[in-house]
Amino acid sequence: MNEKEIMFIADENIMNTYKRFPVVLRKGLGTKLWDVNGREYLDLVAGIAVCNLGHCHPNVVAAIKDQADNLMHVSNLYYIEPQAQLARLLVKNSFADKIFFCNSGAEANEAAIKLARKYAHENLGPDKFELITMKDSFHGRTMATITATGQEKFQFGFTPLLEGFSYAPFNDLKVLEKAITQKTCGIMLEPIQGEGGVIIPDGQYLAGVREICDRHSILLIMDEVQTGMGRTGKLFAYQYSKIQPDIMTLAKALGNGFPVGAMLATDKIAKAFAPGNHASTFGGNPLAMAAGVATVQTMLQDGFLEKSCKVGEYFLSQLKKLQHKHQIITEIRGRGLMLACGLSIEGSFIVNECLKRGLLINCTGGKTLRFVPPLIITIQEVDQAISILDAVMEGK
Ligand SMILES: *Cc1c(COP(=O)(O)O)cnc(C)c1O
Repeated sequence: MNEKEIMFIADENIMNTYKRFPVVLRKGLGTKLWDVNGREYLDLVAGIAVCNLGHCHPNVVAAIKDQADNLMHVSNLYYIEPQAQLARLLVKNSFADKIFFCNSGAEANEAAIKLARKYAHENLGPDKFELITMKDSFHGRTMATITATGQEKFQFGFTPLLEGFSYAPFNDLKVLEKAITQKTCGIMLEPIQGEGGVIIPDGQYLAGVREICDRHSILLIMDEVQTGMGRTGKLFAYQYSKIQPDIMTLAKALGNGFPVGAMLATDKIAKAFAPGNHASTFGGNPLAMAAGVATVQTMLQDGFLEKSCKVGEYFLSQLKKLQHKHQIITEIRGRGLMLACGLSIEGSFIVNECLKRGLLINCTGGKTLRFVPPLIITIQEVDQAISILDAVMEGK
């Protein structure tokens, strides 16, 4: 099929949940993508913070091929070697003691919400079921996770929502503390808000949230679906603070493009789940687990995250230089390779012009350009991206 045919057939047959760019991508390698016409793109989207090792990383490709040759799926009624391996890797490299595997970020957050409720039901009393989440947060598209998501545009038209959620503004400890009631069993937040526009917590904010949770004996749930897996320069973003969550969720980059999610918890909390309480047919599937093991092992290799951090700092500094040149840039923010550029105009114009020049970037919340490239991006590629952005913003 040629480009026009593919786009036509897709529009005819696929539900209208995504507004797509008129590009048909066929191949990826590292930071580069090619469309069906052979045109090359520099990719600063990476499947929205998914392909953190770059497209088709050889270690991940080899692991999937080898696993596919041997065993593609069995039920969780049996033991699976790569599942044991990935669980141990995550436990060794995080606060957590136990892992539940699933297939997406929304599912990981569903599992976290269920575990928090179950733990609270058994340990804090049956009346404690409420979760406080943040305004401008994003936690997924299932009924529970759109309820957790503190943005009306994701909830509109889908009421009634799930009971037992309330919202507080991010970065405001006073209002958060006031939002706690007799029914509150936990606080759920992203350590950096992603879809909300790459909103960075103030220096002591996360520690303050932890302290509030401890004082009220409630749970702290961190959604690291986007910030996890090296995105911010450490394996997990919570590691920038001195505190640890009780429950954490992962997905996006965990399989470097192979669908996989995980919900991690301390032993004390995880004990609330017994056989029959929660499950997933595909969760922990051998192929997904093999991809996850290869991804985590590659990421933990000496110097990998440090190097991505350096490139992130360079990228941030170059964006700040752009800010001095272009009036439309209102703010530059970010950590590691999770970066954003606040604009005084709609970002879609910039995104479309960059696309024409072979650069893929993302716009979130209308006026924020988001940059979440593969973590292997080089200084030269950052320069290339900056010069395209510079040219596009010229005269705006
Ligand atoms: C993307 C995202 C989700 C949802 O993940 P899906 O895999 O699309 O269900 C949840 N939380 C955060 C912070 C995300 O960025």
